[in-house]
Amino acid sequence: TLPLSHSPPLPLSHCPPPPLPHSPTQHPALSTQHSRLWGLLIAHDCRGAREWHSSEIESLKQLCVQLAIAIQQCTLFEQAKTEIADRKQAEEKLRQSEQRFRDVSEAVGEYLWEMDTNAIYTFVTDRVKSIKRYSPPQLIGRAPIEFMPQEDREKFNKILRDAATTKSTFKVEHRHITPTGKIIWEEISGIPLLDCNSNVVGFRGAGLNITERKQAEEVLQKAKEAADTANRAKSEFLANMSHELRTPLNAILGFTQIMNRDSSLNPEQQEHLRIINRSGEHLLSLINDILEMSKIEAGRTTLNEKSFDLIRLLNILSEMLRLKASNKGLKLIIEYSPEIPQYVRTDEIKLRQVLINLLGNAIKFTEAGGVTLRVSSVISPSSLVKELAQMTDDQGQITILFEVEDTGPGIAPEEITQLFQAFGQTETGRKSQQGTGLGLAISKKFVQLMGGDITISSVVGIGTKFTFNIQSRLAQFQEVQTIQETRKVIGLAPNQPEYRILVVEDVKVSRILLVKLLASVGFFVREAADGYEAIALWSSWSPHLIFMDMQMPSMDGYEATKRIKAQSKGQATPIVALTTSAFEEQRRSVLSAGCDDFIRKPFREEIIFEKIAQYLGLKYIYEESLSDERQKAEDSKVDSSYLSGNSPYILAVSSFQDISAEWVAALHQAAIEADGELIFSLAEQITNSNAMLFKALTDLVNSFQFEKITYVTEQIIK
Ligand code: ADP
Repeated sequence: TLPLSHSPPLPLSHCPPPPLPHSPTQHPALSTQHSRLWGLLIAHDCRGAREWHSSEIESLKQLCVQLAIAIQQCTLFEQAKTEIADRKQAEEKLRQSEQRFRDVSEAVGEYLWEMDTNAIYTFVTDRVKSIKRYSPPQLIGRAPIEFMPQEDREKFNKILRDAATTKSTFKVEHRHITPTGKIIWEEISGIPLLDCNSNVVGFRGAGLNITERKQAEEVLQKAKEAADTANRAKSEFLANMSHELRTPLNAILGFTQIMNRDSSLNPEQQEHLRIINRSGEHLLSLINDILEMSKIEAGRTTLNEKSFDLIRLLNILSEMLRLKASNKGLKLIIEYSPEIPQYVRTDEIKLRQVLINLLGNAIKFTEAGGVTLRVSSVISPSSLVKELAQMTDDQGQITILFEVEDTGPGIAPEEITQLFQAFGQTETGRKSQQGTGLGLAISKKFVQLMGGDITISSVVGIGTKFTFNIQSRLAQFQEVQTIQETRKVIGLAPNQPEYRILVVEDVKVSRILLVKLLASVGFFVREAADGYEAIALWSSWSPHLIFMDMQMPSMDGYEATKRIKAQSKGQATPIVALTTSAFEEQRRSVLSAGCDDFIRKPFREEIIFEKIAQYLGLKYIYEESLSDERQKAEDSKVDSSYLSGNSPYILAVSSFQDISAEWVAALHQAAIEADGELIFSLAEQITNSNAMLFKALTDLVNSFQFEKITYVTEQIIK
């Protein structure tokens, strides 16, 4: 306890601490809270009790304040010293890191830059001088676009604007004009600078001289353009060649089809027709092989995947080739393991072509023994797991393995290397005087396109084995399009309106072929030889559908189609393009000209009839299909998709059984007068009850053989 003579203690806190000039935070001991006590000054008279005079108390107070200020300043000084040391250290670290960054960018040949939001330089490193040929002081305060050709400015500004909007990094290539007017290419990479509220306050990045790279790219680009031009010329040549070769072939194959409809041909003539057809088919397949190879070389072969029935494909192949093999006394065995999936998804046409080629070769070169096709599959483990988890999984990847083994002459090791090259044939192949040596080269490319590869093992005198695998996906039954059996159209079903079809084709034989084919089933047909005639007939005769050849002199099919489709009436007229082009892109240009569909020549008659039915929604009468046995025999003998398969129907007295005498008399009269129209309308009355007679009569009228009808009907009337 202190005696009363003590003066009242004076708190040092009475003195407010002065604010720290540079420090954002204050030491807790220097808090501005006046009430907080942090020191005491006490005066004590040791002689005894004493009354303190007010002036003495005031002096003591002053002393107290001065002392507090002195202590505080001391503390502040200490603190400032530490802070300055810390800041120096931080600045040194920053300098080092900046130097490191500059060193790296210097080493990669870049300069660093900063720009404000108006894309004006606020900072550039010295390195810029060696690139832009301007020093930093010459650039700071100016925009990079001031040094760019006009054409590059908008692109540069846009990229900066976009980067500011998306707040993301950017890269831009632009040209820069040096003080001497030289153009250099620069690549600028940058990032927007954001403040604490995420507002863009500028940009920062690096610039690099890419002139050399650009020059190299330009050279490459020019080389590519030259190669593309050469390739285009080659493609055009091929397209034209394809047209030139297919046009006469179209006529050969087409007219054999038409003649095949002639019921009056004797068996020998029919056999000759078959030979013409077979040779035409062979020629077509050679042309197709050459075109296919060129397409592959031009990189224009694509994979057309679809879901299909693999087992069915194997059965078709077996049926197709069985007779060919048995004719040579060979056994054709097709073995497939039970686990191969029935429905798969890959390019069916290409797979079929590869298998036909390998099996066809094996049969062709083997003289005794047999040919075996083995098929097995491996489901990838991940798919298996998925499949177990979900039995309906249809996305599983699957590898299908095929092996074609024969007991033929084999191939010598030194000859094996050339097999997969275009036109590569072995001694045996050359001697056989068959084939082109393209089949295996095409097969290999196709297999590779389907995600696999093909290998061969062979022992001379023992046989050859070709093995290949393809990648496929599992499919479901529902995805597989059921293939309708093609039936032969013999007429239009009754009670349908008359249908007018316009055939536009400059090549006379091709035109007559199509006109005859269409007229033979009862269509009203008119023909045009070029685009001008086509447009005139279309507007005066209003056909329901137009078959349009695309390549024609004066006005071609593209122009004629465009003009027809430009009118509202024309939009309602389906136009089916006919083209001989080998290339898929032709399809696109044909469709973009306004054609509704596309048929490649030489065409099959079923396709023509199918397209008409598709667009006009009409119905046909079909010939009763041949027995399976006969169809198979025919197919394998001629191995042809063009075989129409009709049985020759000889018009005889017996053909008119169950038909009224008046009807026969009317027919007789019409035949004498050579009135085709009247015969057609009489024939229409019996289409349902006697389709064969209907067909025979229309065939005879189409081939102007009225005398045959007159001759037979005369015997009945008599
Ligand atoms: P092509 O059969 O049209 O000549 P390919 O490319 O299909 O063309 O075959 C090239 C050549 O490979 C044949 O000409 C033949 O010499 C040889 N070759 C192919 N398959 C066999 C085989 N199974 N046995 C013996 N030689 C074969």
